[in-house]
Amino acid sequence: MPAGTDNKERTPLTVLLIEDNASDAELEIAALRRNGFDVRHQLAQTREEVSTGLDGSPYDLVLADFNLPHFKGMEAVEILQQKGLDTPLILVTGALTSITAVECLKQGATDFVLKDDLSRLSPSVRRALSETRLKQERASAQAELAKKVEELARSNNELEQFAYISSHDLQEPLRMVAAYTQLLSDRYRGRLDENADKYIAYAVEGALRMQALINDLLAFSRVGRDGGEHKPTDCNAAVEEAVRNLTAAIRESGVIVTRNRLPFVNGNQVHLIQLFQNLIGNAIKFRKGTPPTVNISAELEEDRWQITVEDNGIGISPEHREQIFVIFQRLHTRDQYSGNGLGLAICKKIVEQHGGRIWVESGGEGGSIFRLTLPAVTADRTFGDRHEAFAAHSAG
Ligand code: ADP
Repeated sequence: MPAGTDNKERTPLTVLLIEDNASDAELEIAALRRNGFDVRHQLAQTREEVSTGLDGSPYDLVLADFNLPHFKGMEAVEILQQKGLDTPLILVTGALTSITAVECLKQGATDFVLKDDLSRLSPSVRRALSETRLKQERASAQAELAKKVEELARSNNELEQFAYISSHDLQEPLRMVAAYTQLLSDRYRGRLDENADKYIAYAVEGALRMQALINDLLAFSRVGRDGGEHKPTDCNAAVEEAVRNLTAAIRESGVIVTRNRLPFVNGNQVHLIQLFQNLIGNAIKFRKGTPPTVNISAELEEDRWQITVEDNGIGISPEHREQIFVIFQRLHTRDQYSGNGLGLAICKKIVEQHGGRIWVESGGEGGSIFRLTLPAVTADRTFGDRHEAFAAHSAG
């Protein structure tokens, strides 16, 4: 033991030593002990001894001679792999050509040390131990992460279920409240006092607002429940359908909606219509330019399409660009702009369910550019139709 090396500071090391030469074995153990290891070892010389040895108490390390009369050191690598053990194995050998050495490392040996240079043994063992520890820590962190992801998915699922059931079951009693407050308002307006008219009007308004909110919540939780079937879907048709659903708002606002040629993507048609409808609907609601415009275009990026919905509206300041995709987050009061703050949360959920991403940037003239990615149809990455551009339902 070197002067000053206290027994407590020694690193405990259990070694399966595959070696037939007793004096070589002694030299290797002595080299390790000299360098601060508190070694306990077991000798093995045959396949059976190695296999039974590894079945016993776990070893920190296997040291193996490359060529024993009845066993090749590299066979121990095979045995370790068969038993699913990640114990490091260092070959300690009289001679090894560099080609053989590389081959052994490729097959899974951790390192090799020549018997006439045992000074390399301890550093190699320390490195092997620390690499194994790191590998084990990484594997356990990954297992922990996988467990957390699974827990999160389960709790998300439960939340989604809860949101769906509660919004679904709330619809019926709310329909009663809305219908009867509306009836009260129609039948008794002007027949009670002024305050009663005011209170009934508040109740009607509240019930209608809650109905809109619950419908949106139901739409939000349905994205998670009914998003299963994805097939080649024409975005041109989805945009046209969305525009048709928004006909009244487009006429009223005078917004000019245009689209470039759009592709087929792998997706759910109902959800894609909803996605475009929410984005175009927002461009209409938050319009500013004269004339107000919104254009939808697409660009291929490897195996996905990036779709852009660009308007010349009021724009969104950079500090709010993440927040607007969160459920119930709005930047305006209801007096300024109507809405529940669910539209973009629904868009995000739809896009993510298609394996894509959605974000917003500033438009050149102060409007907003919403960008989203959707998976291209594997066999066909062409555009959905032959028209260069069209103007849909423009003002007038
Ligand atoms: P809602 O439209 O019901 O308020 P959304 O989730 O659709 O809810 O949008 C959240 C917020 O993001 C909006 O309140 C608005 O402030 C902002 N926003 C969304 N789209 C646009 C747009 N095209 N231009 C400017 N602001 C927008």
